[in-house]
Amino acid sequence: MRKQIAAANWKMNLTLQQGEQLLDGVLNKAAALKKDQLAVFAVPFPYLQMAQQKIAGKQQVFIAAQNCSNKKSGAYTGEVSVEMLGSLGVGYVVLGHSERREYFQESNQLLAEKLDIALAAGMHPVFCCGEPLEIREAATQNDFVARQLEESLYHLSAEQLQQVVIAYEPIWAIGTGKTASSAQAQEMHAFIRQQLAAKYGQEIADKISILYGGSVKAANAVEIFGQPDVDGGLVGGASLIVDEFVSIMAALKG
Ligand code: PEP
Repeated sequence: MRKQIAAANWKMNLTLQQGEQLLDGVLNKAAALKKDQLAVFAVPFPYLQMAQQKIAGKQQVFIAAQNCSNKKSGAYTGEVSVEMLGSLGVGYVVLGHSERREYFQESNQLLAEKLDIALAAGMHPVFCCGEPLEIREAATQNDFVARQLEESLYHLSAEQLQQVVIAYEPIWAIGTGKTASSAQAQEMHAFIRQQLAAKYGQEIADKISILYGGSVKAANAVEIFGQPDVDGGLVGGASLIVDEFVSIMAALKG
């Protein structure tokens, strides 16, 4: 089975102390993850070291950065390099979240550079894609997402692509309480997998985990994660509440 992943995105929330409490709470309450199930916590940069220490020895739990620089090192004040992340033991990095695309003007081309640098450092990018409301209303979401995949991912080799996790996050469902229906999620996930198959072959496409993101919570996770092409979720708001995220982890297929 493909890896089934519950990924928490804390965004720019919580103090260090609150973050420690949340992580302790989730790790203490969560049932053991089954084979092929992973939990990933994308925490703010200043909390990466604390989070890495808390997951030490846990084979199926990983820490992610929420972003990285497209530059290797040097005079880029305020940026964080993949080398820095690697030196903390961080194995995952979220790239192309819609908030970074919208508020920090991250383009498909810039994200292609970030993917390259993250992969070269041996990290697993969690590559986010997804359409805004006006695109969904115009029913052109497939073209929109296909273009995001093409412009950021398709220069990668098949071997590199297999290190990538994809997160489909319709922007109209992020932080809005409005979730895509499980049918809408499945439809887009199947489309993404079909696009990957056309480019890399079915065998490779079948190995890529595709997460759904957009107002996932304990109450809808089982139904959404139960779809055949949905391999877990990238979760914002509900990942800040211990019991919610514990239930979301328990909703993974496996
Ligand atoms: C996200 O941050 O990627 C996200 C999907 O947020 P929320 O779950 O709050 O919609």
